[in-house]
Amino acid sequence: MAVQTYWIKVDDIDVKLVFKHIKHLHIGIYPPRGEVRVSVPFGVREEYVLWAVRSRLPWINKHRERFQRAASQNMQEMLNGEFHYVWGRRYLLSVEEQPGHALIVLEGDRLHMCVPPGSTADRVRQYLDAWYRIQLKNAIPGVLRAWEPIVGARVSDWGVRRMKTLWGSCNATSGRITINLELAKKHPESLDCVVVHELVHLLERGHGTRFKVRMDQAMPDWRARQRRLSQSVSSPGLWTPS
Ligand SMILES: [Zn+2]
Repeated sequence: MAVQTYWIKVDDIDVKLVFKHIKHLHIGIYPPRGEVRVSVPFGVREEYVLWAVRSRLPWINKHRERFQRAASQNMQEMLNGEFHYVWGRRYLLSVEEQPGHALIVLEGDRLHMCVPPGSTADRVRQYLDAWYRIQLKNAIPGVLRAWEPIVGARVSDWGVRRMKTLWGSCNATSGRITINLELAKKHPESLDCVVVHELVHLLERGHGTRFKVRMDQAMPDWRARQRRLSQSVSSPGLWTPS
């Protein structure tokens, strides 16, 4: 059966038109977020379809809202009660829908998020990641200022990235270091330790004796810090050569 599909917009609602060999026009609303799909017999003109959709808008909106309410309830049930770590401290996540920009605040032992209505769970996690990135980006300049003179090396540039196998990495030639986004969840001593590790790499490649001597000089307790980091909850990474 030949089927032809395209999208139109009716009063801000995306409506999917599916032309088929059928006798009667049919409007359906589908989960999870209330997509509107209209099955249209071949030969029916678009003006008629528009009129048909418009005349049923109250009914369409009622069902769309029902689906969207259920979807956001699912989102909140899924996320509320999760624990998230910020700088090594554990917080209980609470998500609330509120018009406007996404907003995240720490209140006591809660990580409270206000998100735009209709946000999916994935979207909420993206807001949270963006917030972690800001925490880390705000912290790194101070850490560099503190440790660069102690190590005796300076970065030319730095960045934050989610990495699967490394806490940090460096390019000794360009002088750029990259810090794993996950470090915003760890105790600040871990960020210090990773930054020092990468700064030392600007002077020494590999993890040989000379590397260790420099680490001992700059940060005598680096081994204990490294151990605590690799044993911390939900550590994604390893201390692998970089
Ligand atoms: Zn390394």
